[in-house]
Amino acid sequence: MRFTNEKEHDTTMDKEIKRVAELTGLPVKKVYWLMKRDVIQRIEYGQPYYRFRHKHGKILKGTVVFPEEREIVQGFPKIRRLYTLKEGLRKYFPDGFYAEEKLDGYNVRTVLVGGEQYSLTRGGIICPYTTERIKRQEKQVTEFLEENPEKVLCGEVIGLENPYQEKSYPEAKEFGYYIFDVRDKKTNKPLPVEERRTVLEEHGVKQVPLLGLFKPSDWKKLLTEVRKLGDQGREGVVLKSPDSRTIIKYTSNQNTNRDLEYAFRFYSDYGQAFFFRRIVREAFQAWELGLEGKALEEEAARLGKSIMLPMVQTIQEIASGREVTEDFRITVPSKKLGQEFIRHLEHLGIVIRVNKIEKTNEGYKFWISRRYQSTNDKTKHYLEGGLSEE
Ligand code: ATP
Repeated sequence: MRFTNEKEHDTTMDKEIKRVAELTGLPVKKVYWLMKRDVIQRIEYGQPYYRFRHKHGKILKGTVVFPEEREIVQGFPKIRRLYTLKEGLRKYFPDGFYAEEKLDGYNVRTVLVGGEQYSLTRGGIICPYTTERIKRQEKQVTEFLEENPEKVLCGEVIGLENPYQEKSYPEAKEFGYYIFDVRDKKTNKPLPVEERRTVLEEHGVKQVPLLGLFKPSDWKKLLTEVRKLGDQGREGVVLKSPDSRTIIKYTSNQNTNRDLEYAFRFYSDYGQAFFFRRIVREAFQAWELGLEGKALEEEAARLGKSIMLPMVQTIQEIASGREVTEDFRITVPSKKLGQEFIRHLEHLGIVIRVNKIEKTNEGYKFWISRRYQSTNDKTKHYLEGGLSEE
């Protein structure tokens, strides 16, 4: 994989940029300007592709253009969040909605371009690891795309074996790919919920669990379902109008606590807004549930523990001379692919260390640690009696 900057322009690139302009509807000059500002980035992976690192006008972040194949794959849209169900459901889904489970992994769009299958991250990078793993493990995905090459399968990768979001599910301990949207590559138009579910089922493609069809007046029932999911260690729901045009998420406090617990281990590397938003979310859910007295105190204690305990653990670890790292593993068919993937992470600016490479029946298991620089450095500084500016 090769990342190219604007200085490396040549005539081939000029041709490519013309194609990017054609496919995005932007003037050629604008594409050059956006490349200069690093909004559009050129990457080579088998063939060159251009990705939008940020939203530009109507073009979504993560949109990818393959100039050689004259193909565009639109980015996956942002999903907004409800803080209160009772009023929100009435406002956004007066005629009812489908609730699907929100799986907690990472967003992957899988497409066929020029006969090659690629899996794109939310930001529009072809992930070599995810591409290979889905190709190897999810044959129905390939079959579906071969029959419908104009479509994008949008889904969540869950399980422990990935570098982005490790969370094990009983149905996918290590690696699973569950589809939640089928969109048109060019227009981004989604299939309506029922049609999508039927078509995917017919093709044997795995999809996110469906909780059912609800009315806004069912808000209490939905809240109970979300809390049940939370108790099972699951995240929450995504609500969709039957035509798939309105999509909104809502998640459980239990899951928010787990997020906080994880992130507070690396308290200085996560943005402060990350923490604050989650705390506010929890307050609204506690209010809408009508929690009072002991029940409210218990909810508050769980939140407090999710903040305090991981930070104290981090301080303890660093005080005893260890580093705090995020440890994960991947399984790849060849060492070469593993190394390629490590280079991919390094390009993203992630500091990693390979601890162990183990030969298994499926190929090679790489045991990797990610170092969170700021948390390690800052904690050490405070432990040595260093000052803070506040
Ligand atoms: P954004 O808010 O920009 O969508 P985010 O990283 O903040 O992104 P999340 O809070 O994780 O996203 O929620 C949105 C994501 O949830 C989607 O991008 C998708 O990857 C994931 N997701 C999981 N299950 C579903 C589902 N059933 N339907 C739609 N999206 C789902």
